[in-house]
Amino acid sequence: MKKILILPGDGIGPEIVAEAVKVLDRLRADGLSVELEQGLVGGSAYDAKGHPLPEDTLVQARAADAILLGAVGGPQYESLDRPLRPEQGLLGLRAELKLFSNLRPAILYPQLAEASTLKPEVVSGLDIMIVRELTGGIYFGQPRGVRTLDNGEKEGFNTLVYRESEIERIGRSAFEIAQKRGKRLCSVDKANVLEVTELWRQVMLELAKDYPDVELSHMYVDNAAMQLVRAPKQFDVMVTTNLFGDILSDAAAMLTGSIGMLPSASLDADGKGMYEPIHGSAPDIAGQGVANPLATILSVAMMLRYSFGQPEPAERIEVAVGKVLDQGLRTPDIAAEGQASVGTAEMGDAVVAAL
Ligand code: NAD
Repeated sequence: MKKILILPGDGIGPEIVAEAVKVLDRLRADGLSVELEQGLVGGSAYDAKGHPLPEDTLVQARAADAILLGAVGGPQYESLDRPLRPEQGLLGLRAELKLFSNLRPAILYPQLAEASTLKPEVVSGLDIMIVRELTGGIYFGQPRGVRTLDNGEKEGFNTLVYRESEIERIGRSAFEIAQKRGKRLCSVDKANVLEVTELWRQVMLELAKDYPDVELSHMYVDNAAMQLVRAPKQFDVMVTTNLFGDILSDAAAMLTGSIGMLPSASLDADGKGMYEPIHGSAPDIAGQGVANPLATILSVAMMLRYSFGQPEPAERIEVAVGKVLDQGLRTPDIAAEGQASVGTAEMGDAVVAAL
């Protein structure tokens, strides 16, 4: 029996997670063998226990096979000391569980093509997966800092560094994901300028020999940025460094124009993962029952596919989401101007019914 730790978090977190739990309960009734446990993280954990990542939560997280997280944060926590702020709960979980592989899909349901700022024909049916290295590269490299030179001028510096083993593990993660999708992997680097990414490219080429069913290509990051907005449907899976992935995954997410629709995952070397919507705790709409729960529900589908190796129920969820969109159901964030909208619970119930 697989164990899922549910961490609702703050703001709209508890509202959207409740709908994802309804979906899990429905799948359990149909024989999915999982058990659920609830825990505290972020501002709500600080309120209850004085820390955004209490020891109890860490113990639960280590024992779980996967974690479903809502969102953390809120204006009431912004004046806290940095180590006590809600986002430290998230960063702490990623670090403690060694979640080095960040999966950010950019999927645009054809029913929502009008929501994108790009022409519908460029983005309709878009389905890209960006695999971003999450625990290395220039965000963590040493030395780093700001120093004062002999002439009194200040100089800031950071270090871009990747070991072969770090590149290999993110590479394997990406090749395995490509095997579960369209079997095409594009590795994004800047090998013409940066030695680190020249090594990155060599390691990817070497790894490709172990995955003969996956077609590997390479692209410089500047071209990748251009191609993502020019013809994004050419991509299946992209794999890249922490910095490049940070930027490209946000650009790709915005191609879809609907932040309430996109799930994400962060995985360790054994496929254990934390699954969460890409959006935040949306304090502006918290407590109103209008948040879109679909990104969180789709995070459950990712969990089933990537941590539990169960593509069938994952697809069942994705098809159900497509059905409710076909039925014309929209929360306010994805409703067209003048279109009637439904609330969070009504959307969750509709997905359960469509299952
Ligand atoms: P946000 O993603 O919470 O909200 C941005 C806008 O999108 C808001 O107008 C919000 O109402 C809307 N929105 C977001 N999710 C939605 C949903 N499911 N349905 C409908 N509308 C939705 O980003 P923000 O406003 O910059 O940040 C708010 C708080 O969330 C901050 O405290 C921030 O630190 C935190 N945050 C947390 C995470 C996370 O938990 N992973 C990520 C980003 C931001």
